Amino acid sequence: MTAALGMLSPTEGALPSPLDFVVEALAEAGALAEREDARAVALLPARLAAELEVREECALALYPDRDGDVACGLGSTLLERLIARARGRPVSTSVRLAADPPRPAHVRAAADRFALRNGLCEAGQVSTGAAVYVAAIVAYGVEADDRREGLVRVVVNAHDGGEPDAAVGAHLDLAWPSALVQPSAASLSTDDRAADWIALRAERAVRAAVQPLLGEVELRHARDHDRIVSYFADLIAEARAPRRRADPKAVEAKVAHLIAERNAKLEALPARFAAKVTCSVAALVSAEVPVALVNMRLRRRKESRDIVLRLPAGASSLDRLTCEACGAATARPAACDDRMHLLCEACAPNAQGRIACPACAKRR
Ligand SMILES: [Zn+2]
Ligand SMILES: [Zn+2]
Repeated sequence: MTAALGMLSPTEGALPSPLDFVVEALAEAGALAEREDARAVALLPARLAAELEVREECALALYPDRDGDVACGLGSTLLERLIARARGRPVSTSVRLAADPPRPAHVRAAADRFALRNGLCEAGQVSTGAAVYVAAIVAYGVEADDRREGLVRVVVNAHDGGEPDAAVGAHLDLAWPSALVQPSAASLSTDDRAADWIALRAERAVRAAVQPLLGEVELRHARDHDRIVSYFADLIAEARAPRRRADPKAVEAKVAHLIAERNAKLEALPARFAAKVTCSVAALVSAEVPVALVNMRLRRRKESRDIVLRLPAGASSLDRLTCEACGAATARPAACDDRMHLLCEACAPNAQGRIACPACAKRR
């Protein structure tokens, strides 16, 4: 599941007050800070005070109206510095989703819609339990003639890489916490491969998110190029048809000068519009989510394989499965002939006939 977080609206919860954030951030950095209405007093360790360029003992105020007040509202230097400090390292946290698991009828209906592209499937027993998911919030930046930033979120099951639908991801968006999300003290176990699944899918999500931004950079590049060309074309035409009689040599010298100037401007453009894309993990949320499970027997020719499909609380569709060749998520797998590896549409584009299985090829 991926989503551009900027698209989500603050339907639940509101942004904390900047003063609350400042007080919490200072306390976390080792300061003593105490809140009094729209103000706070803080006692900072010397190093922190030096780093933030405030006095060791200071009065913080949303609206600084007394002598010596340190402003900490939106746009204030202290708030910006503390935000930069907080953004400097990824945060991670564990939560649990306080919801009932999906009802059996709901899971059966979802399982009925599941299809193996090149075989048959038969739903069996339904049970309920809990599953661990990891949501990674990845920050990206595109730097060219200007700088654009954004966030993408990828959510994977911590043990099989399955990908829940968007509704589950929205619950795990802690920027706008859902009322169902509660902090959890449990340390949630994850498979060693979870980091690989996240890296793979985050890379794809970032590529998709930056594509339109890179397109805009190219458009601006082309527009500036055309502007320079037409501007100099006008100047050159003017120089070649002077209103008063002019020495042809002087005209040619002027034209040559204009051409050189135009070329220099055009040559400088690619460097200005060379886009650099960066990304880094901003936050990791591991979450325990109630789920309903359904056993499924897959059949392909003479082979069969039993798998478990999962429907997390709040989702309307089953978790997408992890392709056993490339690690991508797929809702419509095909099974290979020899080992019934489940393969995504990219790894097995054609489900007719025998599949050249990349997962089998890796094992040889
Ligand atoms: Zn694949
Ligand atoms: Zn295979």
